[in-house]
Amino acid sequence: MEIYVLRLGHRPKRDKRISTHVALTARAFGACGIYFDVNDEKLFESINDVCKRWGKNNGRCEFFIKTCNWRNMLKNFDGLKIHLTMYGMPLNEKLYEVKKHKKILVIVGAEKVPSEVYQLSDLNISIGNQPHSEVAALAIFLDRVLDEEEFKINFLDAKIQVKPTEKGKKLIKLQNSPQD
Ligand code: SAM
Repeated sequence: MEIYVLRLGHRPKRDKRISTHVALTARAFGACGIYFDVNDEKLFESINDVCKRWGKNNGRCEFFIKTCNWRNMLKNFDGLKIHLTMYGMPLNEKLYEVKKHKKILVIVGAEKVPSEVYQLSDLNISIGNQPHSEVAALAIFLDRVLDEEEFKINFLDAKIQVKPTEKGKKLIKLQNSPQD
């Protein structure tokens, strides 16, 4: 399944940290790319830097970060458009329907999401009906829809990788890294 994320309403001064976490979660949990409706050069640079060191090719697609016009994106996307909102229908009730699709756009907000987004989306889905965070909502959505794929992702072009250990921190340098 190809999953793309649309981050709506990013405010560069206020949301840098949480939007960075949205993008990192999208990459680490198996999305193919993330679109922002606002350009934020610094944020894009830091995500591209993570992609250079930790990889962007997860074996199915190469992760990207780009800007887009959100209205055009919602009108023209040729797959299922899912808006994550606490007002939506519970994910468990819609998972079967979601999994029938091969291409999905997941929309998460920052500030108040325009009401048009609720109309232009095919599904408005909640991860519980309490207010929480776009990072939590996206992580749980990707985990459920991609069936825990985040635990198996191996970035083919990574220069560094973690070697899991009981205690401490171990990093491995991979062949993709330039000779020093
Ligand atoms: N106050 C904003 C509004 O009414 O649209 C929501 C702000 S919330 C901090 C940011 C984003 O987190 C939302 O746009 C939504 O995508 C996501 N989110 C928060 N709680 C959620 C929930 N229970 N289920 C699904 N998504 C949620």
